[in-house]
Formats: sequence, structure tokens, C-alpha cells
Amino acid sequence: MKDFISAASEKAKDQEAFSKLWHNIQQYESKVQEGKKQFRDLALAKRTAGTIKQHALDHLHNYLKKFENIARNNGVKVLWAETSTDALKYIDEICQKHNVKTVIKSKSMVTEEVGVREHLEEKGIEVYETDLGELIVQWAKEKPYHIVTPAMHKSREDVARLFNKKLGARLDASHEELVGYARRFLREVYQRADCGITGANFIIADTGGIAITENEGNARMCFSVPKVHVVIAGIEKVIPSLTDLALFFPLLATFGTGQWITTYNSIVFGPRKDDEPDGPKHMYVILLDNGRTRLLSDRKARVAGRCIRCGACLNNCPVYQHIGGHAYPHIYSGPIGKVIVPWFEPSLGYVSFASSLCGKCSEVCPVEIPLDELIQYNRIKYQEEQGSLLEAIAFYLWTLSSKFPFLENIIPAKLKNWFFAKFIAQRWQPRKPLRFPRKTFAKVYKNLVRKHRNPGR
Ligand code: SF4
Repeated sequence: MKDFISAASEKAKDQEAFSKLWHNIQQYESKVQEGKKQFRDLALAKRTAGTIKQHALDHLHNYLKKFENIARNNGVKVLWAETSTDALKYIDEICQKHNVKTVIKSKSMVTEEVGVREHLEEKGIEVYETDLGELIVQWAKEKPYHIVTPAMHKSREDVARLFNKKLGARLDASHEELVGYARRFLREVYQRADCGITGANFIIADTGGIAITENEGNARMCFSVPKVHVVIAGIEKVIPSLTDLALFFPLLATFGTGQWITTYNSIVFGPRKDDEPDGPKHMYVILLDNGRTRLLSDRKARVAGRCIRCGACLNNCPVYQHIGGHAYPHIYSGPIGKVIVPWFEPSLGYVSFASSLCGKCSEVCPVEIPLDELIQYNRIKYQEEQGSLLEAIAFYLWTLSSKFPFLENIIPAKLKNWFFAKFIAQRWQPRKPLRFPRKTFAKVYKNLVRKHRNPGR
């Protein structure tokens, strides 16, 4: 927790980072307002999307089994990974079996969660991110800053400097020219890659398909050029039917980037058939749990599994706006991170406390997740399970003194200040330390009233 607080405090002081982030968030906001116009009844669209996802979560075992059966019939190998270690083991086996030397990856938060790139690089396999933002953070040796726009914190100048080092790009290259440099570089990589790894925006139960939505066409290259395609997806990504995409594709596009529809929307049903000209020879889908069952088995918290990772709650969060994505201790940052991370990694339960509880995140969420309520729920659970006894006693005394102020007033200020400094001050940081005054407010007020009534005395 100390590291998180000090990283967040540092970031909050970084004016340059704040202006870049703020500029990008303002642009996002104006686009989203435009995007929302495509919905005749946005409230109904959000309610319907939330209900469909909730239904899928409530019947998760049925839908996952259905997906598995149909996908297997389509020629897909479906693998179940309980932990990220299991997922990495499967990937190792696949790479060994198909003699994989070069991997291309499309943007996927779940691969970041598992640490796929770092793991494969350690094994001596070349790995390239193909999403422009992801390639930038890979070369900058950073983590994604945001779940939708990983290089949101980088300016044109930052990228030009980076591409100058990596690709010999001109420092005054325009945005379009920088994209051109990356495109030319990646073309060559696509041609020699043996394996493409993608995530999944949705897992479609009734057709055994994987829906992938993206703006650069790079994910399409990842799953159609190499001979092997591996999908890693969290189990909560399932939706009942192909027809649900008619709502989820535009909803995700609008809340993610302000578009009416994302540029490339693909549905992959399996490896290449004999009469098909392209596509991978082998396709694997790794269904990842990694703490999701813990979240989904809690009746109240399960609703968080509806998340479609649009990033709207991050963009609207006053805490995220000030500290950005890198200060958080996990790749899932912002409000949704504060809700799901404590279930994925209980030792990081303290992140739920980094919230103003303003409720803006719940207001903007397109699948109606009551994020602020869940953040409070996590806090209560954290206190019950991991909170210190001393803190519990302190809060009990606090409640008592608020209910019965005379109890607090009879204790001398010196003693209260000593108690605070000795037992509470450290946990109270980074707020300013409390000082109990010698005279209570009631006493000061009484004196004032007396003086007012008898001005001469
Ligand atoms: S919680 Fe809602 S707003 Fe936040 S990323 Fe998920 S779907 Fe989007």
C-alpha cells in the first residue's frame, strides 16, 4: 500500500502528465457525446446490455459448456486455465508443439494480466505487439496506461523520439508518418510470425465464435496470417448469442472511443477449412479463471463480471484523471480495477480505498455496474478480513464519540493527541495529522454566545 500511495502522490504532482492525459480525455469526451447520438434510447440500450450480460453470468456454466462443445466441433481446441501459470503452461506447450519462434500479439488486457509477452521473451521467443499503442509501450518498456488506449500518456513528440531510436523515424514526423513507420515495420513481422495471440471481446455461446473488435486491422493479421492462432479470454466474456453483438459492438465502440462502430469487427469460428484460402491451421482458445470464480461466486460482486472493458469509468474517474494508469499496482486500473483486482489478487485489496466515491463511474458504465457501491462493498470486506484490530478499535471509538460527544469531551486534549500520534497517525497518512484543540467547539461556541449576549463582560 505504501508503494501505491507514494507512486500516486508522485503522479498527482506531475503537471506534464496531467495535461497530456487531460487533453486526451477531453477529446474522448466530445467524441462520446457524438457517438451516443446513434442510440434512440440510450438508457434502454444500457439496461438491455446489462441484463444480457447478467443473464450470461448467472448461467455461466451452461453457456461456457455450450461454447466449448460447438467450438470443438468447429475444430478449435478449448483449454481451461485455472490460474495464469496454467495459461502460460498451455502457451508453452503450443509453442513447443508448433515450433514457434516468432509471436505477434494484438491488444488484450488478459494477456497483460497473465504476462504472456514477458514470459515468452524469457523463453527466447520473439514477441511483437501489433496494436500501435501496445507497440509503443512495449518499446518504452512500460505497462499499458489505460485498458483501451495503452499509450494515452504519450505525445507525438514522445512517440517520435521512441521511433527515432527503434526505426530511425524523423523527430518531426507527423502522426500519419509515425503510423507509416510502424506499419512498414510490422508488415515484415506479420510475414514471418508462426503464431498469433489475441484476446476476445466476446465469446459467443450459440455459435462457438470469438468476437474481436479493433481499429487498426492488426488483430485480423494476427489471427489470419500465422499458422497458429491462440485466444486467451476470461470466462466472464461469454454472451449467449451471435445476435447480441448487434447491441454490444456499437455500445463498446461508443463508450470505448466515441465511434458508432469500431473499424474492424471480426468473428472467428475456427481454424481454416480445406476449401478456405487463408486462416490458421490450428486454433486454440484458453478460457481463464484466475480469480474470476471468486468474484462471480459472490452474489453481490458478480455484477462486476458484466464489464466489457470500454474504459469509460477510467476516463470519468477524478482519481484516475490525476494519477493515471501507472501508479496502480495492477494492470486493471481506475474504478473497475478497484472493484475486480481485490478478487483477483486479495493482497491488493487496499486499492478499493483510492476512490472519492463520487459515483460518476456508475453513472457512465454502459452495462450498469454499480461501481461505487461495489468499491464500498470491497472496503467493508477488506476491513473484515484484513483490517487491523487497532483500526477497528479506533473507528469504534470514533463512532462512539460522534454519537455521544460528551464522552470525547471529558478526555483531555493532550491524551487524545498522544493516542492519535501513537496509534493512528501512521495509517492516517498522507492526510495532515489531526490535532485535538484544548477547547472543544461546544466550549468555544458557548463563550461566543455569552460574549454576544453580554458584550460588556
Ligand atoms: S466497468 Fe463499465 S465503464 Fe468501466 S470499463 Fe467496464 S463496462 Fe466500461
